[in-house]
Amino acid sequence: MAWRCSGTSNSELIEKMWHNGLITDPRVKQAFLKVDRANYAPAMPYEDSPQAIGHAATISAPHMHASAVEHVLPYLIPSEENPAPRVLDVGSGSGYLTHVMAELAGPRGLVVGLEHIQELRDLGEANMRKSSEGRDLLDSGRVKFLLGDGRLGLEEPPREGEEQGGTGWHVIHVGASAKEVHQQLLDQLRAPGCIFIPVDDDSAGFAQTVWRITKDEAGEVTRKRLFGVRYVPLTDAPKRP
Ligand code: SAH
Repeated sequence: MAWRCSGTSNSELIEKMWHNGLITDPRVKQAFLKVDRANYAPAMPYEDSPQAIGHAATISAPHMHASAVEHVLPYLIPSEENPAPRVLDVGSGSGYLTHVMAELAGPRGLVVGLEHIQELRDLGEANMRKSSEGRDLLDSGRVKFLLGDGRLGLEEPPREGEEQGGTGWHVIHVGASAKEVHQQLLDQLRAPGCIFIPVDDDSAGFAQTVWRITKDEAGEVTRKRLFGVRYVPLTDAPKRP
């Protein structure tokens, strides 16, 4: 599938993903069209394949990002019930998906990219600063890149206008494979809310499955297996020399 979707420009890549059914929602298509992958992938940005970004991390393939976004979409876009979606992107790496999700979360949304490696935290922010849209998102506070262990989630205080106690996340996207679904992530998930998380199927991490975990308004949690994947692991931060 991947090679059929590669393009020579951002719009060609996205149009091919659309025609091949890898993007099915027009709002998702518009968001991907707004974010030039060349600002985030160091080489061959319009290939539908993952690319190394240093520090043993990769920017995922565009079709994986599209799938992740489509699986959390109802929780990601602003609505009457939720005009200000709060989104946590664990393992933000290149910052590409952080940016795409911020386009969808709307003017009152908040998207936080969380990294445990300082250089990658900085990379996501620097990549986003390459475009005027990205700079606006950062300067307005709609996007932040923070340093921390994503397995613990993140306690981010409510912003002005958000109700008190309005911490937690409507969407948690995890961009690395977890040993388990960490309790802190479940606790920090709003009701309603949705987690997209690859989880190791065995202790070696050779087989991984993406789970979509939803919490309904009453706080009831439902877990659904989606598909097998190959992500880099969610780990301890590497020791500094
Ligand atoms: N969504 C990113 C994926 C980057 S690869 C992109 O497409 O660009 C996975 C990322 O998870 C790496 O950047 C890695 O540094 C990060 N990571 C691994 N373990 C982590 C942890 N415990 N906390 C936060 N980030 C972590």
